[in-house]
Amino acid sequence: MAKLSDPITILKGIGPTKAKKFANLNIFTLGDLICHFPRGYEDRTKLVTIDKLETDKPACFKAMVMNAPRVSHIRKGLDITKVQVADHTARLTLTFFNQKFTAEQLQYGKEYIFYGAVSGDFIGYNMTSPVFEPLDAPPVVTRRVLPVYPLTAGLSNASVVKAVAQALALCDPPAEVLPEPVRRQYGILSADRAYAAIHAPASMAEAELAKKRMVFEEFFVFSAGLSLMRAARSVKKAECYEDVDLTPFYHALPFTLTRAQKSAIDEVLTDLQRGTPMNRLVQGDVGSGKTMVAAAAAYCAVKNGQQAALMAPTEILAEQHFGSLRKLLEPLGIRMALLTGSMSVREKREVRERIAGGEVDLAVGTHALLSESTVFSRLGLVITDEQHRFGVAQRARLSAKGNDPHLLVMSATPIPRTLALFMYGDLEVSIINELPPGRQPVETFLVNESYRARINAFIRKQVGEGHQCFVVCPAVEENTDLDLKAANAWAQTLQQTVFPDLRIALLHGQMKGSEKEAAMASFARGEADVMVATTVIEVGVDVPNATLMVIEDADRFGLSQLHQLRGRVGRGSSKSYCILTSQNRNPETRARLKALCATTDGFRIAEEDLKLRGPGDFFGSRQSGMPAFRVVNLSMDMQTLKDAQEASARWIDTQGTMNTPEGVALRQRIGELFLRAEGTMN
Ligand code: ADP
Ligand code: MG
Repeated sequence: MAKLSDPITILKGIGPTKAKKFANLNIFTLGDLICHFPRGYEDRTKLVTIDKLETDKPACFKAMVMNAPRVSHIRKGLDITKVQVADHTARLTLTFFNQKFTAEQLQYGKEYIFYGAVSGDFIGYNMTSPVFEPLDAPPVVTRRVLPVYPLTAGLSNASVVKAVAQALALCDPPAEVLPEPVRRQYGILSADRAYAAIHAPASMAEAELAKKRMVFEEFFVFSAGLSLMRAARSVKKAECYEDVDLTPFYHALPFTLTRAQKSAIDEVLTDLQRGTPMNRLVQGDVGSGKTMVAAAAAYCAVKNGQQAALMAPTEILAEQHFGSLRKLLEPLGIRMALLTGSMSVREKREVRERIAGGEVDLAVGTHALLSESTVFSRLGLVITDEQHRFGVAQRARLSAKGNDPHLLVMSATPIPRTLALFMYGDLEVSIINELPPGRQPVETFLVNESYRARINAFIRKQVGEGHQCFVVCPAVEENTDLDLKAANAWAQTLQQTVFPDLRIALLHGQMKGSEKEAAMASFARGEADVMVATTVIEVGVDVPNATLMVIEDADRFGLSQLHQLRGRVGRGSSKSYCILTSQNRNPETRARLKALCATTDGFRIAEEDLKLRGPGDFFGSRQSGMPAFRVVNLSMDMQTLKDAQEASARWIDTQGTMNTPEGVALRQRIGELFLRAEGTMN
């Protein structure tokens, strides 16, 4: 027997080279492999006769080889193998390109099971490159439901199928965490059955049951974890703030707050005066003015003699916050300091000394602010901006820390309320659903490839006017499977053939954190005209000079994510544009993208997204602050999530100490889920 924690290199056929490919998918151990779930299935169970084959609909059929396969060498790099097969209903010619080995495999007079589709381009039957196996061989690629896995360049589906089968044969699947009564009530498969069935289901129906179990399981664990965190924090004590007169703060503002900003501030102030630690999430679209809520909270904390810390996910964002808040708060007597990783050792030490000595009231920085070496003399409030880098794992760690500061988390990802209650079960939620008056919405268009020349001309025009552009691609590297624009290659094409005279920059998730920041900072300083990027630019950096965003293959993204990306432009005073390109002609897909062209209200877009695509996207998005769920590639529906949450709440209520075997397994799984490395950003 092997263990789930054993490396995949103990499997046959996985050496260091193959292991590297698997590593690209974050698969290192047998456990990772067993939890690498298919993104879909191909139903190859149906066996038909040749005369019942339908054009372009692949199916299995049994047939005999009627002649010796003929290989013709057409030219260098092109060999064609042709062979006739037949059953009692019809004959069929099979054609294989550059598969000379099929000539040896297919033997005259023998029967095989084939899986393929006849093509409609020819008169009579013709089929190109079907897969096949001998009638007496065990069903691997025919006569079964074949799982289709998320892949990476150089790794075939077949090799994942083989590796997973080996892993399942070698070790037990992850321990059962779902109590028997819960499984019975909701009709959920046991862990043993489900892990086997998700990789090798006997039928499509069984595949569905297995997927449902995985989604249910992961969200049961997640909800249980949030409930435990909430319970742990609710019994803690926090500084009970006195009512602070905010009039000087309001007077210092160069504008009047919106109604939504005011009510969010009121909710925060109420929390601060309660005597238990605040745990609040403020959600509001990009530009809705969340920073002012943070500023008001900090003002209140400082006037109560406490220190506040504001954390941003990147250095540039931290610097931007420091700059703007300083103008507002320093005149009100609040002493501020900036602390980021790129400051010199001496500067950092100096700032840390001032923070420790209580000479700083509001410290702004990256999450270095919460590192061991930063000691506050009386930290009362922690504010985090763009909460995805301050996800569940960090919240869990913060609650585990000795002193229990108030916590304010700000997010620019609008989440429908029904879903927010579930995703942020440990937090109270304030919503800012209103933009300050006078904003120019980003004008958005949906176009197809025939507009390419016009898109390029428009990029040139914006750059000619001294502005900058983003071009967002759905992938980093070329993927053999899907014909998507890859950032790497597209940046090269743009630089070499389209805009040789412009400065093209590149940003993607396979770059190191510091490289990404440097690239973004350089772009913000205007050192490039066009930035080609993957979705890593979702992170809220301000480049007010960027007035155009082109999103390639926009149908690959969820609406909310597109909206989020679009928020990177339109931050300056110039009119801004967003161009969505898509080759997808599916009417529903087009309707979805059109919805984005029609509105800039993030909450409405999020509701629409939830309705059209289900909740999965919200959990997968980098902005959500969620842990790296294993099931985000599986389709999930609201009902399963609600059931899982309900079941876990009831279970936790009745468990108390959680010392039963399932309770122990559950606690361990919560730890794993919450602290699981937050994955590579793509
Ligand atoms: P976000 O919610 O994206 O963090 P910010 O707090 O950065 O938004 O605010 C975006 C811009 O709007 C800033 O320049 C800010 O000064 C300005 N702003 C914030 N609130 C108001 C308001 N009530 N009226 C006018 N401008 C505002
Ligand atoms: Mg902000």
